Amino acid sequence: PSAEADVIVVGAGLAGLTATRELKDAGWTVKTLEARERVGGRLKGLDLGNGKAVDLGGEYFGDKSTMIAETAKSVGITGFRSYDEGERLTFVNGRRHAYSGLFPWRMGPAAIADLGQAILKIERLAKQVPPDGPWNAPNAEKLDSQTLWSWMQRNVTTATARAFITMMIEAAFCTRPSDVSLMHVLYYANASGGFRYLLEVSGGIQRYRFDGGAHSIPKRLAAKLPDEVRTGAPVRRIEQRSDSVVVSGPGFEYRGRWVVVAIPVTLAGRIDYAPALPGYRDQFTQRLPAGSAMKCLAVYDEPFWRADGLSGQITSSDGPFRVAFDTSPADGSPGVMSAFVTGSAARKLTRLTPAERRTAVLDGLVAGLGPKAGKPREFVEQNWLDEEFTRGCYHGWGPPGLYTAFGPALREPIGRIHWAGTESGVHQMGSMGGAVDSGRRVARELFARAAEERGEESKPDTTITEAVGRGR
Ligand code: FAD
Repeated sequence: PSAEADVIVVGAGLAGLTATRELKDAGWTVKTLEARERVGGRLKGLDLGNGKAVDLGGEYFGDKSTMIAETAKSVGITGFRSYDEGERLTFVNGRRHAYSGLFPWRMGPAAIADLGQAILKIERLAKQVPPDGPWNAPNAEKLDSQTLWSWMQRNVTTATARAFITMMIEAAFCTRPSDVSLMHVLYYANASGGFRYLLEVSGGIQRYRFDGGAHSIPKRLAAKLPDEVRTGAPVRRIEQRSDSVVVSGPGFEYRGRWVVVAIPVTLAGRIDYAPALPGYRDQFTQRLPAGSAMKCLAVYDEPFWRADGLSGQITSSDGPFRVAFDTSPADGSPGVMSAFVTGSAARKLTRLTPAERRTAVLDGLVAGLGPKAGKPREFVEQNWLDEEFTRGCYHGWGPPGLYTAFGPALREPIGRIHWAGTESGVHQMGSMGGAVDSGRRVARELFARAAEERGEESKPDTTITEAVGRGR
C-alpha cells in the first residue's frame, strides 16, 4: 500500500506514539510504521492470567517521573508502591550481606566511607552536566575523556567500594564502568533526578510501578490511534526529495512532508538513507551502542521471601544477575522475582543456552532466597540483545568522546528527518519519561517548521527548560 500523510513516524514505542498523538491532536495526518506485530518496543508484558500482568521491559517510575506519570494518567493508568519492606541482600566479591537502607553497612567502615564519598562526588559532578546539552558542561572535555573506571582509579580506593560501584553501574547502565564515559553517567544521573535517586527504591526512581504494567501505556495510546498505527511494517529506506520524504519497507511505501525516526539510535543507523546522511550524524550513530540486558522472571505461587523478612532485592557484583527485585502484582499474588542480567553478566549469559541461563539465574535466586526459589511455577526470559528491533537496552550509552565531538547530532534534524526516542530526551533521558519528552519535542519542532513555512514566527520553546527543572 502507498499513502500520504503530513508526517510519517518510524517506530511505535512510547516516543513514536507520543509524537503521533501530539500531531494528531493538532489536526495533522500521521502514519506510524511499526516493525513488530505489537506496539511498545522496550515495554512488553507477561500475562499472568486472571487479568494480571508484569513487565518484561521498562517498569519503574518515581516522584520526579512527571512526564510518564502524566501520559499514563491520560490513558487511565495509575501507579502503586513497589514492595520495599524487609531486608535487602548483596553479594559483593563473593560475600553475602543482609542490610536495610541504601548501603550494606557490614561491608566494613572503610568501604562504606569510601563508597559514601564517591557517591557524593558523582552527585556533585552530575549537577554540572546539563541534560539538554551535556557537551556544554563547564569541564566537558575532561568529563568526556575518561571512563567511569578511570575516574574510580583516582577517586575510589577500596576494592569493596569499587566492586559495589561497578555492580550499580552495570545494573543501571547495562554496561561496564570501563566502557562508559564519565560524562554519560553524570548526564543520565542528572537527567533522571540525581545519582542516589537513580539507585533508590522508595526514595528514588524505583518507587512505583504501573497498575497492569508499564506496557499497557503504549497499548492504550495505540488503541486511540487505530488509523495512524500500522504494525508489521519494518522501515528499511528513507528517501528525501525536495518537497517530501518517501519511507518504505517490504511491500509498502508512504510519502510525507516530514519523517520522525523514533527508534534506538543504533537501529536508526541501519536504515538506508537517500541521499546518505551527513558524516557527522553517521559518526554519531556509530558511537551510541545499546546496553546489554536481559530480564528473567520467575513466578511462584506466593512471594515466600516476604514471610522470611526479605524484600526480595538482591544485588550481586559477580553472580548471574546484577540486581533482582520482587515484582509481584500489587496484591502480592502470584509471587514474581525479576532478575536483571546486565552488563558483563548479560554478555556472558547470552552465549549460553536458555536452559543453562535458567539454571544460572535460579541458582542466583536460591543463593539469596533459599531452595524454594529454585522451583518456580514459570520462568520466562526476555533477551533484549536478541531482539531485532531493539538490540539491547535499557538505553544507549555514550563512550568517551561521543558527546563532546558529536552530541548535538542527537536532536538536530537533517532535512526533512527529525529524531525522537528516549536517547534524545532531556527529562529522564533513557527512561520512559525521556521517550515521552522526545515525542513531545519533535512535535513542537514540526509545529515550528510548519509555522515558518506559513511565514509565521514560531513561539520560543520553554517546555524543555520546564522539563529540565522538573527532572532535577
Ligand atoms: P522503543 O521502545 O525502543 O521503541 C522503538 C520502536 O521502534 C519499537 O517498537 C521497535 O519495534 C520499532 N522499530 C525499530 N526499528 C524499526 C524500523 N526499522 N521500522 C519500524 N519500526 C522500528 N524505563 C523506565 O522509565 N523505567 C524502568 O524501570 C525501565 N526499565 C527498563 C528495563 C528493561 C529491561 C528495558 C528493556 C528498558 C527499561 N526502561 C525503563 C527503558 C524504557 O523502556 C525505554 O526508555 C523506553 O521504553 C524507550 O521508548 P522509545 O519509544 O524511545 O524506544
